[in-house]
Amino acid sequence: MNSKKRISTLLFIALSLIINFSNVQTKTMISFMGAPGAGKGTLAGKCITELKYTSLSVGNLLREEIAKGTALGKKAECIKTGKLASDELVVELVKSWLISNLAKTETIILDGFPRTAHQAELFLNLLHTKFNDVSLRVIDLKVSDQTVIQRISNRLVCEKCQEPTSQASLKDATKLVCAMCEGKLIKREDDKEKVVRDRLKVYVEHAELLRNVHKRTNVRIDCIDIENKTPQQVFEAFKELLGIVDTNTTPAIVNIEK
Ligand code: AMP
Repeated sequence: MNSKKRISTLLFIALSLIINFSNVQTKTMISFMGAPGAGKGTLAGKCITELKYTSLSVGNLLREEIAKGTALGKKAECIKTGKLASDELVVELVKSWLISNLAKTETIILDGFPRTAHQAELFLNLLHTKFNDVSLRVIDLKVSDQTVIQRISNRLVCEKCQEPTSQASLKDATKLVCAMCEGKLIKREDDKEKVVRDRLKVYVEHAELLRNVHKRTNVRIDCIDIENKTPQQVFEAFKELLGIVDTNTTPAIVNIEK
């Protein structure tokens, strides 16, 4: 091979490698949408224990910052009354989390993030500029307001690991102990009925605009109707959507929204 041919072959390989590497998407992010109490945290918990996924819950991160009394936590105090933390603050929080954790994981659940159209735009821009080996899809958990109110009034969370537990599922109602880590089970401040109704209103206000951004930017949205489903049935529907099918379970009904 003469030197001109060798140089053009090398250039061709280098270019193909650059093009290939820029298109390789090695990590998957699955954003869970759904009203408060739809079961995002419970489904994320199953994904962690049974599929070894990592979950990023912005709500948990914000509550941790508030409990520690950090400057960021002070700015996020408004979440106690059912309001959303600011889009910029949340995206910054997610960015720092990704910088520290992305390398350690393959599939990440984004539990309740992005939650507004503006967060989705900021986040897509962040993925594009900083984390372009990531593909994003959305799972939308559909639930009625009535079920949400009923579930949340029955919900306790672990003070330590923040795993949600239904009060009705406790074997001994006098022992408020987390089954996962033995931490103390408490009632979240924003799980009181009045605050829940406000959180529902806020959710509905933003959800349609958020879906529109996903549709416009070709992010795949799949829905799971969680009404009358146990957490295990929701998990089966989720696995079916992702192509992780157990042979011994009945197929769940799912809809694909494009
Ligand atoms: P969650 O734990 O997902 O129910 O969230 C609890 C509260 O944290 C929400 O009601 C909001 O006030 C706040 N929060 C959680 N995620 C977000 C987000 N992506 N953007 C703004 N606020 C959020």
